[in-house]
Amino acid sequence: MSTTPALTPILDPHALARALGAHHLIDGQLVASDETFPVLNPATCEPIAHAAQGGADAVDAAVTSARRAQRAWGATKARDRGKAVARCGALLEAHVEELGLLTALETGKALRTESRVEASVLADAFVYFGGLASELTGETVPFNPDILTFTLREPVGVVGGIIPWNAPLLLMALKVAPALVAGNSVVIKASEEAPFGVLRVAQLVQQALPAGVFNLIVGDGPRCGAALAEHPHVNKLTFTGSVGAGRSVYKAAAEKLVPVTLELGGKSPMIVMGDADLDKAIAGAVGGMRFTRQGQSCTAASRMFVHRSVVEPFVAGLRAAVDAMVMGDPLDEATDIGTIISPRQFDRVKSYIALGEQLCSETAGAEPVVCSALPTDPRFAKGLFVRPVIFTGLGNDTRIAREEIFGPVTMVIPFDTYEEVLAMANDSDYGLAATIWTKDLATAMDAVHRLEAGFVQVNQNLVVQPMLSYGGVKTSGLGKEASLGSMLEHFTHKKTVLINMK
Ligand code: NAD
Repeated sequence: MSTTPALTPILDPHALARALGAHHLIDGQLVASDETFPVLNPATCEPIAHAAQGGADAVDAAVTSARRAQRAWGATKARDRGKAVARCGALLEAHVEELGLLTALETGKALRTESRVEASVLADAFVYFGGLASELTGETVPFNPDILTFTLREPVGVVGGIIPWNAPLLLMALKVAPALVAGNSVVIKASEEAPFGVLRVAQLVQQALPAGVFNLIVGDGPRCGAALAEHPHVNKLTFTGSVGAGRSVYKAAAEKLVPVTLELGGKSPMIVMGDADLDKAIAGAVGGMRFTRQGQSCTAASRMFVHRSVVEPFVAGLRAAVDAMVMGDPLDEATDIGTIISPRQFDRVKSYIALGEQLCSETAGAEPVVCSALPTDPRFAKGLFVRPVIFTGLGNDTRIAREEIFGPVTMVIPFDTYEEVLAMANDSDYGLAATIWTKDLATAMDAVHRLEAGFVQVNQNLVVQPMLSYGGVKTSGLGKEASLGSMLEHFTHKKTVLINMK
């Protein structure tokens, strides 16, 4: 039996996970669930604690609470809502270390390189959106001098958000903070793989919010996620995850005719031209491929197109950089690379590596370049560690190039001409992110216009940040998140008002 965790920072992530245990957060309270499932520590494959398995009843309780709370919250002065959301940010700022440790434990993402950073950006996202409340403005329309015509930005109502495990804190914040500032109430369905960090966030921010405006339920996709997507009183859906689950959510939204935002997968190209600063490009490849996160990033630079004249030094440099990274205990400050999230994902990634190795054995000149080293500490003998692989010499038409692997697997594909590489970069079902590395401004600007992606960078490879509109094209998704524009477009509706003054 778990006890409700204190609101002061708790720096023992095992104890915190056990105390959070099998709860949802509904109507301002941690609510215990009868049905539970074990959540594994991916570094050891031992259970951390049992989490709640919510179904239609938990979803209904959360949506009912959100619906009740939304009326008063939506009628609260916008700046007061903003202040409350910014105060959530301040509360979370005081818990960065705690949330970093808990996230490292449950996701296997290394504390120093990933989890602590994410906890810090989480707090910043609440502060950022809290400051945008006064931007919820409408406009006057010069329709007729006798008819005062203007628009109002109004909340959509109850927002249902479904999030993945790979950056659970940040991806939740990018939905919750703007939705609340815009006057909506929210029900988030946590990922079953990483439920504790986001549950802790939901518990902490209740101190700054009226009960019921932010609810969080835990459970699997087919039962809990689907029940949220289909609930008749959820007025807007926002989903981050795989293309397959995104399609199900889209169908549920179509059935109810509610708006939906979908942030889905990627197979992002990184183009290194012959004139690129190679040292910078190699550092960008390490960061862009998110090797620190075992490649489990939707924007991972998983297709690296490198000009034939610099392939050799590029691969050698990338290999040396990844070899120098330490794989090990996610909670250890010395660790650069942690684990894969789950046994299921581990098997999936391994099967793609086996496929790549087989393709290499059948393709002249192709090679799997395996980097870094597995941890030797016997405590982690059953941990879900995978050595990063760079496949060289495989084509853009192979399954390794076409399917999202979501693991530490990238490929280097040589090219000769700019037109050839642009065609290959765009030859993908996905269109989330893309980068080009060159000293030539004209080439860079041409690529900026012609790359089919929602997030394009030149000579750098930053991750998504609050303030930068973020989202994909093609099967990478629909709609944008993370910016003022996305808050206005996706978490409000515009009401047109005409006042006849004659
Ligand atoms: P997933 O689709 O398996 O799960 C995501 C969430 O959807 C989970 O909470 C899950 O329980 C829920 N879910 C699953 N089936 C559902 C259904 N039928 N109805 C409703 N909910 C359902 O994805 P994942 O493995 O957690 O995350 C990895 C995927 O997320 C990758 O494809 C990655 O590219 C994508 N992703 C995209 C972005 C982005 O911003 N574009 C960011 C992070 C991750």
